[in-house]
Amino acid sequence: MKLLDTFGRSHTSLRLSVTDRCNIRCFYCMPSEQIEFLPRPEVLSFEELTRATKIFCQLGITKLRLTGGEPLVRRDLPELVRQLSRIPEIQEIAMTTNAILLERSAVELRSAGLHRINISLDTLDSQQFKEITRRDNLQDVMRGIQAAQQAGFTEIRLNAVAVKGLIESQIIPLARFCLEHALKLRFIEFMPLNSSGRWSDEDVLTGAKIRDIIEQDMGPLVPVKRSDPAQPASDFRLAEHDGSIGFINSVSQPFCQACNRLRLTADGKIRNCLFSQEEWDLRSLLRSEATDQRIQQTILECVKNKKAAHGIGSSDFKKPQRAMYQIGG
Ligand code: SAM
Ligand code: SF4
Repeated sequence: MKLLDTFGRSHTSLRLSVTDRCNIRCFYCMPSEQIEFLPRPEVLSFEELTRATKIFCQLGITKLRLTGGEPLVRRDLPELVRQLSRIPEIQEIAMTTNAILLERSAVELRSAGLHRINISLDTLDSQQFKEITRRDNLQDVMRGIQAAQQAGFTEIRLNAVAVKGLIESQIIPLARFCLEHALKLRFIEFMPLNSSGRWSDEDVLTGAKIRDIIEQDMGPLVPVKRSDPAQPASDFRLAEHDGSIGFINSVSQPFCQACNRLRLTADGKIRNCLFSQEEWDLRSLLRSEATDQRIQQTILECVKNKKAAHGIGSSDFKKPQRAMYQIGG
């Protein structure tokens, strides 16, 4: 059975949010205070996450990404990776992390079966890091990156959120840092998913603008053919250097027509889009006597209701009720 929606898109990728908690407070994702995290009993257990994932896999999911909140604040995360890696249909398990706690767990995660890591970092300037994240952990992130490389992770990506008026001065330093450390750099356009309400299209630094800035300083960027059509990034190679830079232009050039992703929130709700207004409750099914078939029906229902596109920029666009940390980025 395939997870085909009404627009013919087949879904093979699942993002599992393992917690809504985080050790920092990036302004584009979370409020600075008065955050209501989920009470622990509402968060799916490892057994529930593994059972849910197995059922998704019966329907065609082959790739997983662990996210949150910050996935590394979930205790014993390598144990979850071990359980997920035993599911025969799974071809890849990846994780998106702020890397603050990576130094102590990189080796264990790799031996548990984690294949790939994306690290989120917007600036190399410690003062600016503090302004963005409201915490002082830049050096921990640096140690986390080094630990991931020493543990044998390759193709590590660094993701930076492109907020206008904020990260322009960091574009070239980040690009040079990634070249020097053999990391793949990606800029993600700032999306309306923060709970503070700060977002307008004026705040988005577009991929096109960042490309100009890089080309002026570092020479031409040559497009690289997408190996996976569902891949949201447009990747480029630097003609005069030995590295690549990608752009996830989710606002200026949405890639919804190729989207193959579903999401499971930490409290067990399935979402068919980051921006969807609707969620399907898997947790109550997992905690009842529901059979795998009954759970499959709910997943199929969610996929059937997926819209053609997120609609940012259209007059009837509504920001989702939940912020990025509550959905799982
Ligand atoms: N805590 C982990 C981290 O930061 O990598 C994983 C969760 S975080 C929500 C996932 C990704 O979403 C990060 O790369 C983060 O930078 C990105 N993100 C968060 N809020 C965003 C926003 N409003 N627009 C674009 N990207 C955002
Ligand atoms: Fe935490 Fe990631 Fe959100 Fe930053 S983007 S507050 S690191 S969950």
